[in-house]
Amino acid sequence: MQSYRLCPLCSERQGGGALGFEVVTGRECFICAGMMDMVGRMARAAAKTAKRYQFRTFSVGVSVPEGVQEREDELRSNLKLKGNETIKTQAARLVAGDVSKALSRSVDRQRPDLALLVDFGAGEVSATSRPLFYYGRYTKPAGVSQRRELCRDCGGGGCKKCRNTGFELKPSVEGLLRKKLAGFSGSDKMTFSWLGSEDRESRVSSPGRPFVADVKSPKKRKFPKTFGVRFRGGTVSVSSGRMLPAKPVRLPSFRFATKIRGTAASKVSAESLAELGARFRRAEVRFDRPHNRPTTKTVYRASATARGRTLFVDAELDGGLPVKRFVSGELVSPSVSEVLKTEVVCRSFDICGVRETGKFEFAEITRIQKKD
Ligand SMILES: [Zn+2]
Ligand SMILES: [Zn+2]
Repeated sequence: MQSYRLCPLCSERQGGGALGFEVVTGRECFICAGMMDMVGRMARAAAKTAKRYQFRTFSVGVSVPEGVQEREDELRSNLKLKGNETIKTQAARLVAGDVSKALSRSVDRQRPDLALLVDFGAGEVSATSRPLFYYGRYTKPAGVSQRRELCRDCGGGGCKKCRNTGFELKPSVEGLLRKKLAGFSGSDKMTFSWLGSEDRESRVSSPGRPFVADVKSPKKRKFPKTFGVRFRGGTVSVSSGRMLPAKPVRLPSFRFATKIRGTAASKVSAESLAELGARFRRAEVRFDRPHNRPTTKTVYRASATARGRTLFVDAELDGGLPVKRFVSGELVSPSVSEVLKTEVVCRSFDICGVRETGKFEFAEITRIQKKD
């Protein structure tokens, strides 16, 4: 029974000399057959891989060659040894210790910036960095759409016209931010969430519309608070940038101020314009959302002036109430058209302010807090 031949580390793990194992060099070890001799080398490889990333905390996971774990289990069951550290945990602990010393970074098993996987069988190290959730607010001039649009020629497959990108080459906030954030993070794998949207021809002015970029596998984790992206039609600027603590499961509710230019079917009297202001003072409007249950939104204020049949409306609305429908009355009641008793068509609208009225919700954080 006591005739197992083990390397120093594998012997130490079973409780050491007291059990009278014959201590041999790594390759002759019954359990690891030399795997533990690789610890130093794999730790150096792990540190080299980790250096390609910016991170404060890391974790180490280990996979061992086939049979190793089974042989340790067999030995322990034969000798009735239980509850000791396993070969995987020991190897991971030793590698983590070396990496920590070499790079002056600390281990966090729950939520590391960087997860290193050391494969002792293949002699390889791979790394996964925790995604980043960058919050910012953008402003934009007229003439740039919010989202990238799929190429009209190939529908996203990639062709000559879109230079194989699958997207229209016209500038978009998404396309411009994507390029810039890829530069900051060293990764172009990202998705965007927006607090509302506007038209290509809408200007969005300060303090801008909030968005969240979900950046996968970032190499770098520090983005600036403010930056601008110039393009032929002007500049898309980002301000209030910060990292969210985790993936948001719900975006905050918000309200926004807008300046609308519309055309009325017939001339509107001064009394009707005054009526508009009186009617939309914290007024509830019903919105029969297409493919969804009807909802109620608030119009906080509206005021209008007219020049001939051209109308200028200043309004503040709940997020999710479409400006054009609020003007025309299509699926929305009451609307500008309804109150003015004439058909009004929205020609353009600018976004002058977006204000969050709720908070981000994070599932991951709730889980972490529950554990404590
Ligand atoms: Zn061994
Ligand atoms: Zn194309």
